[in-house]
Amino acid sequence: MSSELKLSGRYFSFYVNMQSALDTKSKIMLLADKENLTINKELDMNTISPNSNIRLRNFTAAFPGKYIQGDNTLAELPEYIQRLGKKGLVIASSTAISKIIPQYKLNELPDLLIVERFRGECCEREIERMSDIIKTEGIDVVVGMGGGKAIDTAKIAADRIGLPVIIVPTIASTDAPCSGCAVIYSESGIFESVYYQKLNPQIVLVDLNVITNSPVRFLVAGMGDALATWFEARSCQRTQSQNECGGLSTMTGLNLAKLCYDTLLRFGTTARIANENKIIIPALHHIVEANILLSGIGFESSGLAAAHSIHNGLTALSETHSFYHGEKVAFGVLTGLNLTDAAPDEIDEVYSFCEEIGLPTTLADIGLENISRERLLEAAVKTCVPTDVIHHEAGVITPEKVLSAMIAADAMGRKRKFRDSIARKADKESN
Ligand SMILES: [Zn+2]
Repeated sequence: MSSELKLSGRYFSFYVNMQSALDTKSKIMLLADKENLTINKELDMNTISPNSNIRLRNFTAAFPGKYIQGDNTLAELPEYIQRLGKKGLVIASSTAISKIIPQYKLNELPDLLIVERFRGECCEREIERMSDIIKTEGIDVVVGMGGGKAIDTAKIAADRIGLPVIIVPTIASTDAPCSGCAVIYSESGIFESVYYQKLNPQIVLVDLNVITNSPVRFLVAGMGDALATWFEARSCQRTQSQNECGGLSTMTGLNLAKLCYDTLLRFGTTARIANENKIIIPALHHIVEANILLSGIGFESSGLAAAHSIHNGLTALSETHSFYHGEKVAFGVLTGLNLTDAAPDEIDEVYSFCEEIGLPTTLADIGLENISRERLLEAAVKTCVPTDVIHHEAGVITPEKVLSAMIAADAMGRKRKFRDSIARKADKESN
């Protein structure tokens, strides 16, 4: 076989069918050749993204070494540090230092661990500072405790020196804790690059007592991030796009992504109530697991698509900066459903979920109440940069199509809100 093949959609279908009929030896030969396989941009089958220069690879999945979730699990942190080494550095957010560390008396174990306050930005300077502390203090286990940036700093510092890392998320607002990637920013907070670690974190330790005492908006934003997982995984599987650990989606990734979505629909509302009342009930357990573990494995092992690209595009508009990652991702999901011709019943289901738990369904909900089409187009253009994951969707994705889908998602969200307000008013009058 040649090292590079350009295939039409029809032939690609044939290739896939042929592969499944081959014996094991032939499959290995084909897999080896896949590395150099590129797909013709003229494809018109709806399962391949024509803008992508797709390189097919192995089926790949990534997981944290151990995931522990429970009530007061932080009391076990010293034991886990001792399992992996002799002395830990806890890189902790300000909230963790003022509330969580004293609560669990983690500041009273100077021989086992030292605590260092995270200065707020996951930038080269902060990573270097932590690396220096690791070297001078003889640290052999790193712990990241806090929100996304404290966690990412711990992951990168540990990976560069080759030490194990324990991740302790104090909020359930994203699916980053379990993953093997982290984002580096400039000192002023501008995105610079994604850093891929050699391995995922050795231990992820989630304390429900800490999570339920954090603001509800974090848990809801985490559900917005987790909401994208199934739809993006499904798109990547349909188009055979690359996942976030450099391979093709596994059955494991895809099915955990589906379980993530089903869990959100079943337990999202009850979990929100639990968080509002600062209590721990099974529904909260299920949603925290969905937000952190299922979504984490789901996105990394199955891939990202429209929702995250639309999130990235929306960051071009400064009005959205005060909104959380998962909130913008949720609007990205609604836009993506309109973009990809999802079934009306499914669209209705997702809107109802977002309305029920308090995720954005309109542009006004993410700070873009009076946005002009021209400025919204800026976000759509950024969404469609050739390197972004929106090209994992089927068909040719253009800024104009994304703009139309954003306007459609917003109009639908506004119409539903209007309908609900009329219904509430009628209810009130009849009572
Ligand atoms: Zn995300």
